[in-house]
Formats: sequence, structure tokens, C-alpha cells
Amino acid sequence: MAVPLDEHERSLAFAEIALGQIRALMQPAWPRNYEIWYNYATGYNPALNHAINQTLEKKGTLSDADLEKIYDTYISSSRLGDRIDSVGARVIDEIKQVLDMIDAAAGSATSYSESLADASAMLAGAYDRDTMRAIIERLMEGARAMEVTNKTLEASLSASKQEIERLQESLAAVRSESFTDPLTGLSNRKFFDAALTKAITEAKQNGEPLSLLMADVDYFKQFNDKFGHQTGDQVLRLVSIALKQNVKREDIAARYGGEEFVIALPNRPLPAALAAADQIRRAIMGKELVKRTSGERLGRVTVSIGVALLRADDGAPSLMERADNCLYAAKRKGRNLVVCETDPEASQPRTAKVA
Ligand code: GH3
Ligand code: MG
Ligand code: MG
Repeated sequence: MAVPLDEHERSLAFAEIALGQIRALMQPAWPRNYEIWYNYATGYNPALNHAINQTLEKKGTLSDADLEKIYDTYISSSRLGDRIDSVGARVIDEIKQVLDMIDAAAGSATSYSESLADASAMLAGAYDRDTMRAIIERLMEGARAMEVTNKTLEASLSASKQEIERLQESLAAVRSESFTDPLTGLSNRKFFDAALTKAITEAKQNGEPLSLLMADVDYFKQFNDKFGHQTGDQVLRLVSIALKQNVKREDIAARYGGEEFVIALPNRPLPAALAAADQIRRAIMGKELVKRTSGERLGRVTVSIGVALLRADDGAPSLMERADNCLYAAKRKGRNLVVCETDPEASQPRTAKVA
């Protein structure tokens, strides 16, 4: 699962386009400018491309201020790290405000109890009505002031509570985004790795089976080369929809990288996992691709799937490796196939190159 050579070539092609733009517009080749133009070259951020094209149309060039604005709007703001930092800073601010409120409340409670103590001392020596009245008035004044302070405190605490609830929502959104693949909306590799380890522990504890499917789009490079990467992305979305439609609630489906998908099937023995894999394979094969922009029919794509069953001595890496071997066997056998580890072809060595 190393970075394929094509990925290397593809990224170099984007890099060349990026540097070409920087050269043509005589801009400094700073990392920020390179990142903007690299993004532009991939076409994966249509809003960024649109903003650049519009500015170029209007002015024929992009000033440093334009580049900065584009970076801030379309790249920097979408960075998860930045958003986590900003939520973190807001949490710290909010905690500081609550602590200040607690200090203020403690201060006013102390001065109120001091004024009560004063009044009680004064009461001990008060023998006439006027002194008594004065003491009572002071007490009432103190109680009124305390009431006002409490009301203000209550309002501030309630505002703080609301802000903390909003922050909790932001944190949940950032957290879920950090585990999601933006292209397909499936879980990403980071999430899957953790979820699979957990599922393996649970399966072993409960003495239940656990199967793993590894799927890879067939001849995807050809598809990309023929129809372009944007359409290739559409294929990845289509595959992910087929996965989402054909997994159960407890299954864990993810885009593992590039055009490779993984699904862990808790509590499913090999025959049931094979049936699920075949259902997914058929669902993908059954969809005809139509280009969104032109309505052009692009044909069908297929996937190959490898299936492995958890063994007592397995960890996530060995289980993944066996599923990967089966996937490789499915490719070798001709693609658009499901191969599981009990199939004879799965045990052949991975020496021959896959056609
Ligand atoms: P095989 O049947 O053996 O799997 O052949 P393949 O062409 O599918 O596999 P190969 O590994 O040669 O090519 C995978 C291609 O997937 C290369 C890369 O350009 C493309 N790819 C990886 N990630 C993305 C992506 O996010 N979007 C698009 N459009 N293409 C991607
Ligand atoms: Mg492939
Ligand atoms: Mg692949």
C-alpha cells in the first residue's frame, strides 16, 4: 500500500502546473503561493478555482493581497488544525470568564457576609428605634445589592452555558470531520485503524467472528486518464454510495486511500462476508456512470474485493495483510471478483505482476 508510481507522476504533473502559473504570473514561489496553485491544478477545490478565474478575468493577474485573501478564504479556513486551534482558544476564553465570575461571586458573597456580621454587631448595641431602622435599611440595601449581583451572575452564567454548548457542538463537528474523508463522506483511514483495533478486541472478547473486506477499483488509472480526475472523483463517490447502501449499521466502512476501500464486518463469518462482498461488487457493476455536466454515458466501473476472517492470533496488520493478499489474487484472476482466503488462488505467492 505504498504510494503508487502513478500518484507520484500525478502529483508531479500538478506541481508543474502550479510552478508554471507562478512563472507566468511572475509571482514569488513561496509555499503559500505554491499551495494555492497546486490546489488550483488539482481542481479539487472548485470555489478556489472559481475565485482565481474571476480575479484573473477582471485584472489579468493576482496581486499579493488577492493571493492572501484567496488563501485565507479557501485554504487556511478549511484547515482542520486552524479550526481546532480556534475552538481551543474559545474554550480557554470561556473558562477564564467563568472563573472570573466565580471570583466576583465569591467576592460579593464575602462582602455581604461581612455586612451581615457588622449589622449583627451593631444590633447588639442598638437600643432605640432609629438605630434599629438604620441597621435594617442597611441590611435591606445589602440584600438588594446582592440580589442584583446574583441576577447579573445568573445571566452571565446562562450566556456562558450557551456558549459552552455551542463550543461542544463545534468540537463534535471538528472531531467528526477529522475522521471523515471529504471526497466521499466515508470514514477515513485514521478512524478505520482505531475502529478496527477496537472491533478486533471486542470480537475476541465475545468469541464472535469478524470479517474484513478490502476493495479496490479496477483499472481506475485508465478511467482517470480517459475522463479526467474530476470524473474519477465522481466514480469514487459512486463506489462510496454503493458501500453505504450495502453495509449494516454495525459495519465499519472507510476510504482507506486513493481508490481503495475497507469494510470491517463485526459478527459476520466468512460465508456471510463473502455474500456481502459480492453484493457490493454487483451493486457497483450495476451502476452506469453518467457525466454530470454533459449527460455523456461513461460506462461502468468494477471493483475487486479480498475477504479475510479474523484468527485467534491476528492483530489489525495481519488481518489487513491477508485481505490485501486476497484482493491481489482477485486482481490476478481477472478483476471484478471476490476472493477469500479459503480460495486456492489466495494462497499463491504474490510474485507475478498483475496485468
Ligand atoms: P488495478 O485494476 O490494478 O487496481 O489498476 P488501477 O489503475 O485501478 O490501479 P493503479 O494503482 O495503477 O491506479 C490507481 C489510480 O488512482 C492512480 C491515481 O491517479 C488514482 N487516484 C488516487 N486517488 C485519487 C483521487 O482522490 N481522485 C482521483 N480522481 N483519482 C485518484
Ligand atoms: Mg485500482
Ligand atoms: Mg489501488
